[in-house]
Amino acid sequence: MKNYQELIDSLVDVSKHPLRQVKEFKARTGNKAVGCFPEYVPAELVYAAGMFPVGLWGGDVENSRAKEYVPAFCCSVLMSDLEYGLNGTYKDIDAVIIPTLCDTLKCLGQNFKVAVPSIKHIQFTYPQMRKIEAGVTFLESEYGRVLTALEELSGAKVSEKAISDAIEVFNDNRMALRRFTGLACDHTDIITPFVRHAVIKSGFFMEKPSHTALVNELCDALSTLPVSRKGKAVLLTGIMADDEAMLKMLADNGLSVAVDDLAQETRQFRFDVPTQGGSAMRRLALWWQIFEGCSLAYDPSKKRIDMIAADIDKYDVKGVIVCMMKFCDPEEYDYPLLKEALENKGVPCLYMEIDQKAEAQAQTRIQAFSEII
Ligand code: SF4
Repeated sequence: MKNYQELIDSLVDVSKHPLRQVKEFKARTGNKAVGCFPEYVPAELVYAAGMFPVGLWGGDVENSRAKEYVPAFCCSVLMSDLEYGLNGTYKDIDAVIIPTLCDTLKCLGQNFKVAVPSIKHIQFTYPQMRKIEAGVTFLESEYGRVLTALEELSGAKVSEKAISDAIEVFNDNRMALRRFTGLACDHTDIITPFVRHAVIKSGFFMEKPSHTALVNELCDALSTLPVSRKGKAVLLTGIMADDEAMLKMLADNGLSVAVDDLAQETRQFRFDVPTQGGSAMRRLALWWQIFEGCSLAYDPSKKRIDMIAADIDKYDVKGVIVCMMKFCDPEEYDYPLLKEALENKGVPCLYMEIDQKAEAQAQTRIQAFSEII
């Protein structure tokens, strides 16, 4: 049995080499890999079709050719994904699934199709009215189109049982990650902000059962250790906070991540796909109906704000860091509500603009924030 440090090292290593396991999978199985664009796609369908679903969350790349296709105010995660498609980084990816969750994704999908014709393009739409029956039926039919495209790619039909089994595999992974984040806040001496992020992110680049096994092994190891909380507890909210330098700055300035509300992290695994409710495909569609707490899932009552307030109390959070993806309208619309709620609650808030590149001023701003909470 590996010790916790070896397990952490393995997961951090995967998080830094996103496409390594894709290459290894393709060489071993002869099957294909499908890129899953941010923020939510039914990756279970890719797994059910025997292929490797890999999360495409951009990266720190100089965007030169991508600017020929999208305006300069495209968010950096999509800009980087397009650049990686254009410069050949994604050459081992056979298809991409692109959800139309925001205006930028709607346009990016069409541009990716033209700019990177070597990669099969699968786009689908989420219903705005997700709480009504028509929304579920619509999404089920959209997922049906995605599945047909995946079957064409793999050359084989996907059974109801295969989708149902995939849902179980992904729900197991969600459960493992909830277990991990539940333990991580009690072991912030070991699970630094960067380690916490890397353990979660590595799941986008590994075969799910392997990731689940490693995360559970890490949880087993952590649960034998005494509680040790180091640093002032903060909550991260936004689309993503994956800049290693920034996450290390948090630790260097005495901050630890007690809980997050990030689309790349906790929002992915807060809710399971229901085990009841009809066919496997319908249950996948129902996930979008029950899903809460994200700027991308229409919610006139904005439960996200109450969910963050509840987490602040539950985890004794001293300050909130809003990780605002630059040019992300859906997140920007939520910010005034969140800011007001935090002010009313007397919780300090730091607004950090994220563009997948370290900010020169980040160190000073994080240090000042740490001093006031
Ligand atoms: S939701 Fe925001 S971060 Fe995500 S793709 Fe759209 S603009 Fe970019």
